[in-house]
Amino acid sequence: MNDGTQTSADAAAPTVAKPKLALYWAASCGGCEIAVLDIKEKILDVDANFELAFWPVAVDFKTKDVEALEDGAITLCLFNGAIRTDDNEYMAKLLRRKSQVLVAFGSCASEGCIPALSNATTRTKTLDWVYRDSPSTDNASDTRPQTKTQINGFEIELPAFWETVRVLDQVVDVDYYVPGCPPQGHQIWAVLEAVIDILKSGKPLPPKGAVLGAGNKTCCEECPRTREEKKIKRFERIVHKIPDPEKCLLDQGILCMGPATRDGCGGKCVSVGIPCRGCYGAPPNSHDQGTKMISALASVIDSEDPEEIERILDDVLDPIGSFYRFSLAKAKLGRRRESLGTAVVSHATEDAK
Ligand code: SF4
Ligand code: SF4
Repeated sequence: MNDGTQTSADAAAPTVAKPKLALYWAASCGGCEIAVLDIKEKILDVDANFELAFWPVAVDFKTKDVEALEDGAITLCLFNGAIRTDDNEYMAKLLRRKSQVLVAFGSCASEGCIPALSNATTRTKTLDWVYRDSPSTDNASDTRPQTKTQINGFEIELPAFWETVRVLDQVVDVDYYVPGCPPQGHQIWAVLEAVIDILKSGKPLPPKGAVLGAGNKTCCEECPRTREEKKIKRFERIVHKIPDPEKCLLDQGILCMGPATRDGCGGKCVSVGIPCRGCYGAPPNSHDQGTKMISALASVIDSEDPEEIERILDDVLDPIGSFYRFSLAKAKLGRRRESLGTAVVSHATEDAK
């Protein structure tokens, strides 16, 4: 009605509840939250098909709003960010309980991404850097965050900062994974559109544990560059070389994670001359992105001489940051443990918080 009156037919019209959608960020940069807006005007379709139950970055929801929901009341939760504090863990467990389908959305929730690089050091060293040693730190009193602080008769609490960064499925049961740092807009829409279709048609859900919004090959297979037989004598950093615009970057001695990365981004970086850093995670049937890349390199280094091979590999200045930039929390390599000094030994799931 456009005259402001309501007919009995209007009054009797049944209100069909829309499925509830939640989006949340834990230990992450927030890029995944922004990437959701990359679906542009399709956000209106999301609004038409879902009732927003929780999206604190965009709407003023509180944790108590989620706590008040029935268990399973949220149809779909896209959870981005790794788990590195007690608060991240609490929210992961709360949203797991309240959600029918929980998706590890983006690289941090799926594989650890940049936050998990701190598993290559220790909590103490991380805090030392941030609160004492970084050139941008001005903290002469060496004040550190405390979990409980008394101020003017009040107690202020901060969540405990864990020793080990974990991914979502190391803390709660996860239904699906959407890779990417961040997931690309067209892939986010592909996932949401598929969910809308499933909700409307009653089609079965994909098998539990499926990777959604990505391909089933490697980044090399959607890369527009021309590959030749690789024979690498040295690695060069992209900042030191203007690469040929047509040829494979790895063929040109620029470390490109394409052979060890799942496709689906559309070759976003490689098509503009930037090597793939691996943000779509390990390709199918590979459980460790770093070892997959090392084995790919082993077949293209042009030498039989162990010393020369070592010298060529020395050109890779930051092996963990290069091979495991997005996947250290899930790596077979494990993590550095304080009690054992420099040894990288234990796995996130086995370690103390
Ligand atoms: S190694 Fe990199 S540049 Fe070469 S084909 Fe694969 S993705 Fe493309
Ligand atoms: S090219 Fe590699 S790093 Fe760039 S978006 Fe694609 S998967 Fe991520």
